[in-house]
Amino acid sequence: MPVRRALISVSDKTGLTDLGRALVQRGVEILSTGGSAKALREAGVAVTDVAEVTGFPEMMDGRVKTLHPMVHGGLLALRDNPDHLAAMEAHGIGPIDLLVVNLYPFEAALARGADYDEMIENIDIGGPAMIRAAAKNHAFVTTVVDVEDYEKLLGDMDQHDGATCPKFRRKLAQIAYARTGAYDAAVSTWLAGAIGVETPRRRVVAGQLAQGLRYGENPHQKAAFYTDGSARPGVATAVQHQGKELSYNNINDTDAAFELLAEFAPEDGPAVAIIKHANPCGVARGETLLEAYRKAFDCDRTSAFGGIVALNMPLDEETARAIVEIFTEVVIAPGASDGAKAVFAAKKNLRLLTTEGLPDARAGGATIRQVAGGYLFQDKDNGYVDRDDLKVVTKKAPSEAQMRDLMFAWKVAKHVKSNAIVYVKDAATVGVGAGQMSRVDSANIAAIKAGRMAKELGLADSPAVGSAVASDAFFPFPDGLMEAAAAGATCVIQPGGSMRDDEVIAAADEAGLAMVFTRMRHFRH
Ligand code: 5GP
Repeated sequence: MPVRRALISVSDKTGLTDLGRALVQRGVEILSTGGSAKALREAGVAVTDVAEVTGFPEMMDGRVKTLHPMVHGGLLALRDNPDHLAAMEAHGIGPIDLLVVNLYPFEAALARGADYDEMIENIDIGGPAMIRAAAKNHAFVTTVVDVEDYEKLLGDMDQHDGATCPKFRRKLAQIAYARTGAYDAAVSTWLAGAIGVETPRRRVVAGQLAQGLRYGENPHQKAAFYTDGSARPGVATAVQHQGKELSYNNINDTDAAFELLAEFAPEDGPAVAIIKHANPCGVARGETLLEAYRKAFDCDRTSAFGGIVALNMPLDEETARAIVEIFTEVVIAPGASDGAKAVFAAKKNLRLLTTEGLPDARAGGATIRQVAGGYLFQDKDNGYVDRDDLKVVTKKAPSEAQMRDLMFAWKVAKHVKSNAIVYVKDAATVGVGAGQMSRVDSANIAAIKAGRMAKELGLADSPAVGSAVASDAFFPFPDGLMEAAAAGATCVIQPGGSMRDDEVIAAADEAGLAMVFTRMRHFRH
């Protein structure tokens, strides 16, 4: 059956008048709500007000416009069911064959930080009701919720003498329910945050498709990137200035890089992190960004190749020049000078992303991971320790300089895959051991890397000599600690809490180490 009667009610008016005109040309009668009807009429498209059909004016600031049997009967009636047809006849309900709706921009209001009352007003009621009704009745009704589908709709109608094909309607119905599901998920998630429920009893997650990706972690895996509408500065909200589209791995690594950097407040000076495979291969502070970059780069020059660089302040030209000395995949920073952009412009493959500031490392949030048959939810690891939280457990207490490096190492260790061991000297990592099944091996690998750094830089000693070492979780035995001591670490930060803490502390004392406990663990898998 050709589409004869359509209801159009859209908040996003993009493409509206073109669609209206095209439908009228194809002999379709258009019903429409206030703002949509006005826009169509102004463009010279003939339209009937929904109010005329329902016999009720739009009321209560638009809260009630289309919630009426004249609308919902027209959407839900089965065209091949005599009872339904009789009901239509009895009540003078005309069929609605096509529904074009996009919803109040709840997600956009969220992104711009609208207040509570404004968010409430941005919850669309009649729109989702109509979408769900029309999509349920996809055997007869076509439901379009996405401006991107207008062209496809017209194309399908043209191929089928003004009707749409069942397959297309089914596909659109699936998209329609995805939209209403995502919409309510956004409302529920916002509400949980707004009223301060950190672990809601019922949690639903949905995102908006931001980008289809060329492939996933590997070329044979399909992938896409969904955003959650939050305004948090980061890879999802950043502006990309140049270079090809980010890949799945780029997005993952850029996120890791920037979230790590968020631990380093710009007020305390420039900081740079270089990330590979979601682990830092160098993190440093410096007097300048350039110095911070050089120090981060020196930690592991080999791994830095093809890495992701994150900066905690706007990229300047001289740092940009240093970065382009090697191949770098992505640079993310809260801004970039024109000079820096000019330097990067010559490097076509380098992606530059800028953000509105740094994310708040202490802000809440959730992390999700899929396992076979389910999802694991947890609060984001936004835990932190201040110096006051630290407990000195050895005879020796760390000096002021050691304390600074310990705090630095601890912040980095939080962002290294477990088991994590991080050596730091003079506000720069000098060895990072990540993702090993044994803490001893992580300590060892970090020391080996420090040794390689000494060779590359022509240093007499390993930079791990005299370093501070952080362990993301307690040392269950003294062996991991001894490995770090053998590498040259002189002070240690770790959560503590092992059954054998006494043994570990005694070993630290014997080795002349200063050790502090954080009493907080930062596993990351
Ligand atoms: P318009 O700009 O045409 O006045 O309004 C379009 C918007 O109103 C669409 O986003 C549509 O989903 C929404 N809408 C349509 N009917 C109703 C209703 O009865 N109640 C509410 N709250 N929103 C509606």
